[in-house]
Amino acid sequence: NKQVILRDYVTGFPKESDLIFNDTTVDLMIPEGSKSVLVKNLYLSCDPYMRIRMGKPDPATAALAQPYKPGEPIYGFAVSKVIDSGNPDYSKGDLLWGVVGWEEYSVINPTVSHFKIQHTDVPLSYYTGLLGMPGMTAYAGFYEICSPKKGETVFVSAASGAVGQLVGQFAKIMGCYVVGSAGSKEKVDLLKNKFGFDEAFNYKEEQDLNAALKRCFPEGIDIYFENVGGKMLDEVLLNMKLHGRIAVCGMISQYNLEDQEGVHNLATVIYKRIRIQGFVVSDFFDKYYNFMDFVLPYIREGKITYVEDVVEGFENGPSALIGLFHGKNVGKQLIAVARE
Ligand code: NDP
Repeated sequence: NKQVILRDYVTGFPKESDLIFNDTTVDLMIPEGSKSVLVKNLYLSCDPYMRIRMGKPDPATAALAQPYKPGEPIYGFAVSKVIDSGNPDYSKGDLLWGVVGWEEYSVINPTVSHFKIQHTDVPLSYYTGLLGMPGMTAYAGFYEICSPKKGETVFVSAASGAVGQLVGQFAKIMGCYVVGSAGSKEKVDLLKNKFGFDEAFNYKEEQDLNAALKRCFPEGIDIYFENVGGKMLDEVLLNMKLHGRIAVCGMISQYNLEDQEGVHNLATVIYKRIRIQGFVVSDFFDKYYNFMDFVLPYIREGKITYVEDVVEGFENGPSALIGLFHGKNVGKQLIAVARE
């Protein structure tokens, strides 16, 4: 059973050498009398929060995620197939998504964060993205945190990624004016031509982010769906409208820094009466089946589309995961470990 192990706590940008391969020969078995399930992992999801788990224990992040243990397999969301089951709710052949170790096979104790896959007329890999944790993040973050209304102006950063591409499409469905930022021409083209954003810009090529935002939002921003933090947040604050809302989903630009960048324009929150709210997707997992009822018809009618970046082979997992922090992924990054 091949596994990916964390060598030691990571500081700075993660490197491939921080993640090492292990091959165990121990037979995986379901302990007698336990409700565990033996699964084969088909698709592993690469998610930015995994970097937070690679760092040293930190009281600031403890409420989100406990660190991985050096010397042990890392873990994350995946799509898996049941091989053997001691659990009456799961049978051989069932498909599920939820957290498993980064390994070919896992023994898991299903929790409220493991979901049985009931709809297989859509690509199975979607359950790492559109129909999994990132999709739920976009849904909860946009509809529950942003309080969107038809006609409002919406800005999304890291807009072509797993979460961002969906936030933009949800905002268009709601009848909003939507602008996204991303880090390459290819991604900007996707935003405008595939996901239906009204405008998009490459933040790496803009000398002056404030000017870029003013160009796209001459009247200001009602809703900012924050994925990156840092300088972008500072400039967005200057462009928010009165009573604007900022949903703080993530701050990927800060995850690899020893000292986080300061935010200079925070006082704008007072002057403009801005509501700024962080959220964590797992708090909304009880709404997962509502989300499925909402989103499946749009997918089937072709009204919501999804771009994935599928890397083939377990051995390419670490480089794909690390690539997230260099913007290498185009769309949702996942690893196809096995097809069935
Ligand atoms: P993406 O698929 O968007 O992949 C990450 C992208 O972030 C990269 O492709 C890159 O795109 C961008 N990026 C990387 N480094 C930087 C940087 N220094 N500055 C600006 N952009 C950068 O990831 P997800 O959609 O999975 O996640 C998006 C955000 O949502 C993350 O911050 C993540 O932590 C957060 N999140 C939060 C959850 C919650 O419960 N609160 C749940 C899930 C995700 P580009 O080329 O455009 O720079």
